[in-house]
Amino acid sequence: MSRRTRAVDRGLARTRRREILAVLLSRAERLLPAEADLLRAMVDTEIADGDQARRSLGGQSAAVRRLQTRVEAAEQAIVEAEADTRRAEQALADREQLALEPVQSCRICGTGYALGRPCPTCAYRARAAALTPEWDRHR
Ligand SMILES: [Zn+2]
Repeated sequence: MSRRTRAVDRGLARTRRREILAVLLSRAERLLPAEADLLRAMVDTEIADGDQARRSLGGQSAAVRRLQTRVEAAEQAIVEAEADTRRAEQALADREQLALEPVQSCRICGTGYALGRPCPTCAYRARAAALTPEWDRHR
């Protein structure tokens, strides 16, 4: 039985109980013992239904609160991810800007390097030569 079918059945049963209750209550002062018993059973059922509905609503409210907490955490994670994305895009743009810097070729070794800076290859060779003893340079 589907949830919708059960809800319709519960609604029809509740409507029927309330119709009976209305009749019994209109005659309450002159009820037969069996009618008084029926009235008690109907009222007890309505009370139990009301309790069940309130428990269900409480559970649903707790679920809604849990979902709200998760949604807030997800929204915060989205904000952080968007900030990460902006930083990564800026870093990429910075690198692309560096990649567009004009380059030149070294007239000594032929290495390409950023215009206006010393040749890193020649600078490295000069440092290495300075650290190598004279007697060991031409092996
Ligand atoms: Zn060079």
